Amino acid sequence: MQKLNSQIKGFLIDLDGVLYVGDNLIDGAAETINHIKSSGLPCRFATNTTTKSSATLYKKLQALGLPIEKDEIISAPRAAVLHLRKLDAPSCFLCMNDDVKTDFAEFEMTEKEPDVVVIGDIDDGWNYDIMNRLFLMAIGKAEILALHKGRYWHEPDGLRLDIGAFVAGIEYASGKEATIIGKPSPDFFQMAVEDMGLIPKNVAMIGDDIESDIGGAQSAGLKGILTRTGKYREELAARSHVIPYAVIDSIADLKNLV
Ligand SMILES: [Mg+2]
Repeated sequence: MQKLNSQIKGFLIDLDGVLYVGDNLIDGAAETINHIKSSGLPCRFATNTTTKSSATLYKKLQALGLPIEKDEIISAPRAAVLHLRKLDAPSCFLCMNDDVKTDFAEFEMTEKEPDVVVIGDIDDGWNYDIMNRLFLMAIGKAEILALHKGRYWHEPDGLRLDIGAFVAGIEYASGKEATIIGKPSPDFFQMAVEDMGLIPKNVAMIGDDIESDIGGAQSAGLKGILTRTGKYREELAARSHVIPYAVIDSIADLKNLV
């Protein structure tokens, strides 16, 4: 395969499904990051995770032996906090697990007429009661902020329904559109690119999700490199209208391109 074009001056790399699946590191992930960094190219690591606080995520990456610094991680909860800081000290209701809530400690919490409901993930806690509570807040004055609107994700034993279906349900019932924070929101990619001091066309996004990672990145002006690991499925990629800039078998192949 040819080397990547010299326009690429930085990498935005998805975590789950690209560097690891569950707790299993993908072969060559750490070596590839070291190789890119020793080539002098900046990297940021993008994740839509809704189940881990920034502190917990950083610990996981360290335990896996991945050479990633804390401030190189651009997560959906971190991006949501940055978004909320731009509002006027909003009161919030958080639909997420207790660990991720620690990222939002600076905001006032209430279920009584909050300014914002933030929808993350509560694993198998989804039920009629919580959906109805979110609906009642959303039909009141609360804005809906969704950490992302993913359709499905990949676990070692197969695909799982993601929170997008619940976000869409609240939007449908309340007639209010959610602000989506994580991938594929253009603001999310822009934030990561700016953090590297680059412009979108000079950044390649590496991801396993043809729509959210590759489609999202390319809509924001980045170049999308699809990896055939994690949630990648040949039939889903074939059915998509998104044409990646390049396709690689795994993150390990990136070493040969840089
Ligand atoms: Mg992924």
